[in-house]
Amino acid sequence: MPFMKLFDTHAHLQDPRLAGVVDAMMDRARAIGVSRILSCGTREDDWAPLTALAARYPEILPAYGVHPWFIETLSPDWVNALGQRLTENRAAVGEIGLDFVVEGLDRGKQEAVFLAQLRLARALKRPVSIHCRKAWGRLMDLLKQEGGLPHGGAIHSFSGSMEVAQELVRLGAFLSFSGSITRPNNHKAKKNAAAVPPDRLLIETDSPDILPENLPGPLNEPAHVIQVVTTLATVRKTTPESVAEMTWNNALGLFGDG
Ligand SMILES: [Zn+2]
Repeated sequence: MPFMKLFDTHAHLQDPRLAGVVDAMMDRARAIGVSRILSCGTREDDWAPLTALAARYPEILPAYGVHPWFIETLSPDWVNALGQRLTENRAAVGEIGLDFVVEGLDRGKQEAVFLAQLRLARALKRPVSIHCRKAWGRLMDLLKQEGGLPHGGAIHSFSGSMEVAQELVRLGAFLSFSGSITRPNNHKAKKNAAAVPPDRLLIETDSPDILPENLPGPLNEPAHVIQVVTTLATVRKTTPESVAEMTWNNALGLFGDG
């Protein structure tokens, strides 16, 4: 396979599970053509390790945000702290969103935390990386209420319906596909991925999670984004090179070069 430039638009390389193995992972990523990785923060205490990681590896672009699973860990001054981090690093906002699958997460608080970050992104003119599980109606209501995604946004590991995909595209979103699309029984994601407009398609790994099919685990890594590329090429009836080029250009336009 010829050399392709790949942009992994959603990972968490500051995850403590990857301590000590990032150097080797980055070597494997570079060898396969992964030239940019958006590494998304999930809570306040991983923002500093993320800044350090991005300073060490030129391929890693940081995004800062609070994931819906961690809304109970927030400090009283978290919005200012996030604003400062975003200003200092000219970074994207993420991972933010809504999760109505995990039990015990206060939905009202999730929405408040999501909205605060969406508004910060708009004020600072930044793109966002969004997590959404079984909360599509509320996500679209909130996005509409806020005037869409004026500076763009990626829906990470998209798992909604075709109708939701079309509406999100109208609201300014890009749809990102992960290793979950490599699972043989994931017909829904394959069908959606085949229909996404070429200028709104992205690829990601969500490393260290969402290990693609038939790979030794347990941890996922950016080099495995090639599995997503080859699966997308099959479902879109095109070449891996074309998927790589299209998603590279889309990601660069959305998240810039850091
Ligand atoms: Zn994630």
